[in-house]
Amino acid sequence: MASKLRGTDLIHGDNIAGSIPNEVAPSISVSTTFRQPKPSGVDTVSAVDLRNPSRHVYSRYTQSISTRAEHILGRINDGYALTYSSGLAAAYAALVFFKPKRIAISGGYHGCHATIEVYKKARGADIPIIDIEDDFQGGDLCWLETPLNPTGESRDIGHYAEKESRAVHKVGGKLLVDATFGPPPLQYPFKFGADCVFHSATKYFGGHSDLLGGVLIVKSLESWNSLISDRIFLGSVMGSLEAWLLLRSLRTLHLRVPRQSETATSLAQWLNAVAKTPAGQNIEGVPGGIIEKVWHSSLQPVDSRGFDPRTQMEGGWNATFAMLLKDPEHARHLPHLLKYFVPATSLGGVESLVEQRLQSDPGADPRLIRLSIGVEEFEDLKNDLKAALILLAQVCAFSFCRHTPVTRIF
Ligand SMILES: *Cc1c(COP(=O)(O)O)cnc(C)c1O
Repeated sequence: MASKLRGTDLIHGDNIAGSIPNEVAPSISVSTTFRQPKPSGVDTVSAVDLRNPSRHVYSRYTQSISTRAEHILGRINDGYALTYSSGLAAAYAALVFFKPKRIAISGGYHGCHATIEVYKKARGADIPIIDIEDDFQGGDLCWLETPLNPTGESRDIGHYAEKESRAVHKVGGKLLVDATFGPPPLQYPFKFGADCVFHSATKYFGGHSDLLGGVLIVKSLESWNSLISDRIFLGSVMGSLEAWLLLRSLRTLHLRVPRQSETATSLAQWLNAVAKTPAGQNIEGVPGGIIEKVWHSSLQPVDSRGFDPRTQMEGGWNATFAMLLKDPEHARHLPHLLKYFVPATSLGGVESLVEQRLQSDPGADPRLIRLSIGVEEFEDLKNDLKAALILLAQVCAFSFCRHTPVTRIF
């Protein structure tokens, strides 16, 4: 298995046999339908190989650019990839594919829980939701998100897949990994026993906050064929323009993600040092007592089962993580005191984003801040956070803290 994300694959992995056009960059084609060949006896729709189409028929089936993007995504993830109109469209397709009797899911991105509810309603069946720590049984689908939204902490894929007698593979269940927070080269979930890897391509694969997309990667061509025959009739294909943006973005995945990972790790470490500074003291001019806690895979200790996130995150730590402030008012205002971090939800783009998680997840702790680190300079991002934290602390020092809502001051 590939353990490294190869730029060569990202640049040339879509040179499908016989498909090398003379243009260097792909044209944008928005055609939904394609001219049929002259009668030759065998060339009907059902004769077209959907994975390596010799021609396209209708863009709900296949289209040149999304096919090329899928070849690259399959290659870099060590499997067979299919794209969808959004992450949640891919999540729904995964449920249709696995048809689980029960679903084990705990925490993580709230939207996936909502998609599961929609699926349950559509099935009209009783599909119990269990905790990932419960005992599994045949027909279960373990839906494991790692690194986990919003904290960015890692979960031990191997443990849930096969490490002990209650693991899902031991009883005939399946394991899906939502790896959105950990794209290649950070982690490769198939190495630890995933049956299906799921990504919101809106995040790191897209990488520029300008496309919605989802990806499922499976281990066999047979599974891929089943997914694509469902997708044709679910109708949840990526738009042609979005697929074009995705292919363009994949070319630089190996440059963006390691850079984002490195900067995020340095920032998480620094913010953790601020969190460890007691009130009344300061670190590099930033007073302690504002940040309660910082979460990041790099700060995660080896757990009681012996899981060391380092073994799973082989290509670097995640570039999205969270911190808990002491004061919810501070958390409400911090995103708007920053110069380079954009106050917005989502993650994975070249620009750094920050949000009080409560703004997009109604279940979140109001003190929680999520940070998605882009490709800016570490020093600029650090100084940006530093200035904002100092400002918040000054507001506190003038005794407004907890008495006057910060709204009145800014
Ligand atoms: C964003 C996200 C999704 C959903 O993806 P969309 O592209 O927004 O539909 C699923 N899982 C995680 C972890 C995400 O961050």
